[in-house]
Amino acid sequence: MNASSPSPRKLRVATVSLAGCFGCHMSLLDIDERLFDLVERVDFDRSPLTDIKTVGEHDRCDIGLVEGGLCNAENVEVLRAFRARCTVLVAVGACAITGGLPALRNHLDVGDIMQSVYGRVPDDPELPLPLNRVLPIHEVVRIDHALPGCPPPADAFWQLLQDLMAGRTPVPAPGLIRYD
Ligand code: SF4
Repeated sequence: MNASSPSPRKLRVATVSLAGCFGCHMSLLDIDERLFDLVERVDFDRSPLTDIKTVGEHDRCDIGLVEGGLCNAENVEVLRAFRARCTVLVAVGACAITGGLPALRNHLDVGDIMQSVYGRVPDDPELPLPLNRVLPIHEVVRIDHALPGCPPPADAFWQLLQDLMAGRTPVPAPGLIRYD
């Protein structure tokens, strides 16, 4: 690169966990030493990794990664705000793509579940309203890409980010799709 060329703009990446278990975030961290390369090329915005609570405080976010589906009204509100600020949105992991394990409750009545677990239906106004059904995120917002797996392996995260940073359409290599 010419010494006088401006450095390419660093992309902004945000992540959020909705109705998930943080396993997808843990798998992202498993890229290990490649994190050093990543932070040279991107700035992290809202994420459990940064503890920034609002996406895009400085500007729009280039890439948003969503872990988890939607089990309550707060998840929906957070997801809509996240979508509005992210240029490219990726559903990451089985929970975001299909509802995943939390969606196992979908064949039961949510009131019956509350009675069974708490002995009553909790009515604290601080609690977000549960949805009747756990939803995959594409039922509420448009998604641009999906990264399957439970969780997607670290190498799949790395491949996805490399593709997006290079402006390519990410296509997970078959060997990187696992559901163990
Ligand atoms: S896809 Fe798997 S690892 Fe990721 S949040 Fe859901 S249960 Fe956890």
